[in-house]
Amino acid sequence: MRDTQQSINETADKQVRTLEVVIVGAGFAGMYMLHRLRELGVSTRVYETGSGVGGTWYWNRYPGARCDVESMQYSYQFSDELQQEWEWPEKYSPQADILDYANHVADRFDLRRDIQFNTRIVSAIFNEKTKKWNIKTDDGEQILANFCVMATGCLSSTNLPKFKGLHVFKGKTYHTGQWPHETVDFDGMKVGVIGTGSSAIQSIPMFASQADQLYVFQRTPNYTIPARNAFLDPEEVKVIKADYSGLRARAKTKPSGYDLPIPTRAALETSSEDRLQEFESKWENGGVAFMASFKDLLFDKDANDTAAEFIRKKIRETVKDPKIANLLSPNNVIGCKRLCVDTGYWETFNRSNVSLIDVSNHPIETITENGLITDGREYLLDAIVFATGFDAMTGALLNIDIRGRSGLKLKDKWSGGPKTYLGLSTADFPNLFTITGPGSPSVLTNMLPSIEQHVEWISDCIMHMLTNGIKCIEATQDAEDDWVEHVNEVADLSLRSTCSSWYVGANIEGKARVFMPYIGGFPRYVEKCEKVVANNYEGFVTN
Ligand code: FAD
Ligand code: NAP
Repeated sequence: MRDTQQSINETADKQVRTLEVVIVGAGFAGMYMLHRLRELGVSTRVYETGSGVGGTWYWNRYPGARCDVESMQYSYQFSDELQQEWEWPEKYSPQADILDYANHVADRFDLRRDIQFNTRIVSAIFNEKTKKWNIKTDDGEQILANFCVMATGCLSSTNLPKFKGLHVFKGKTYHTGQWPHETVDFDGMKVGVIGTGSSAIQSIPMFASQADQLYVFQRTPNYTIPARNAFLDPEEVKVIKADYSGLRARAKTKPSGYDLPIPTRAALETSSEDRLQEFESKWENGGVAFMASFKDLLFDKDANDTAAEFIRKKIRETVKDPKIANLLSPNNVIGCKRLCVDTGYWETFNRSNVSLIDVSNHPIETITENGLITDGREYLLDAIVFATGFDAMTGALLNIDIRGRSGLKLKDKWSGGPKTYLGLSTADFPNLFTITGPGSPSVLTNMLPSIEQHVEWISDCIMHMLTNGIKCIEATQDAEDDWVEHVNEVADLSLRSTCSSWYVGANIEGKARVFMPYIGGFPRYVEKCEKVVANNYEGFVTN
């Protein structure tokens, strides 16, 4: 009898759990959010689809996956002990090292006891009477929470285009963003890679070294800069650690939240000799800092052309077959799509086992039992890798049935593109926060400082409410409209808003074309967030 009663209670407990805050996602955002709220004594639980922490670095295990922000900066700064004790072996960390770090953080701060893995949140519905969020998991659990924090990631909802015949393929298929945990061995196989974005550019050299034959199906060529990764010099690390806070403070003054030199010269006002020298020096140093060669590269098409032509020349110098070099050469704005960073990408096309197939004018017609057809030819394949990216910034949020006041669906509210106040909150959805949501600097910055800034803003806001007996906070429509207008205004100043990238949702059929991240820079954004708080949560209604 006692056992039966106990099990009924357990079932009841399982069915409706009550919490102050539900966090969705256990990447770097959800992990820090949990730590911070727990330290403040707030009852919190994280729900995560995957079986472990790390988000991006848990899912993107494809060979060659690597950070393009230096390890010493792509890390948390909220705990000085943590940043002092952790040793990064390489300048740009491979996925496995970042995942080790995420696991270390989870252990060090005992996070796992409040993370429910293998659990997807399927809906979050606001009850106007009780002012609570009713949240449901994919296994039927219900949670009532006063606050819901979406730490669902900007690049976590994979995009698999609807290729005809996909289900008939007899070989193995993979998506870079959902790579298996076990080793994938392409030894002796004919492999096709669809896509030439960052994920493809990192993994293609690795696949080429394994596969018998590699076919790269390219729709749009991309610009990429050699990473020039290296092991970190312990002496250099010592110097950084002696003044880590200095490095972090400098980074916060930079638009990208990343301590890179800010260019002072304009490409078009620099002699062609000096300009070339500057491009050469940035190319030799490697990495995304290439775009920091000159201040006008992302604002003036003629300036941009000088950088683009420099890269095209590098491609022609590296790739032996002029026809292939030509096919690999982008002719759009450099930096408009996310600049890629690679290790041995262009060189890979000199290998005899690598073929570049242009699908720009002849889209992949169909996938067949044994491969795929484009331009009337069937390519026989043992495996296909989809390096086709993500439904960025809004995908993971809109995969959840989120409903605010009067049953308004977030999907409907955002049908013309995401609308938020500061990328943190959206009108008609009280007590719902988004970490690095659309309308915040997010993907245009080093994500770790952007995540920390959001987590701290949200936790301070929740504490302010709890200590002042405030039940609800909600962005006003006017504040949201003004912010959206500002986000669009600054986007229009940059060449970045001019191309068909995932920044504008162009990679997803039917998605509204809106430049989603805030391009005004990290310092300006932080200043605005702080001003909002100083003015007693200006732009929000509280009650
Ligand atoms: P994520 O790490 O994406 O975590 C979100 C988590 O939420 C995921 O684990 C997901 O499973 C979970 N989730 C989503 N929906 C649900 C749901 N409904 N229910 C339960 N769980 C859910 N940024 C940089 O700054 N520098 C880089 O070099 C860089 N490299 C990158 C390389 C790759 C391959 C990719 C894909 C992204 C890269 N990024 C980089 C961006 C990267 O996403 C961020 O740096 C950061 O890891 C994001 O952390 P997050 O916690 O916000 O989101
Ligand atoms: P992506 O940049 O969106 O690239 C997807 C690729 O797939 C593009 O080349 C695209 O071609 C192609 N594609 C999509 N649909 C296709 C179709 N139907 N037929 C043929 N080709 C198709 O995705 P990603 O490479 O995964 O990168 C996404 C983002 O994740 C990056 O921009 C970056 O922010 C992050 N990331 C960072 C790193 C890093 O260096 N640290 C590594 C990986 C990812 P089109 O261009 O023609 O659309």
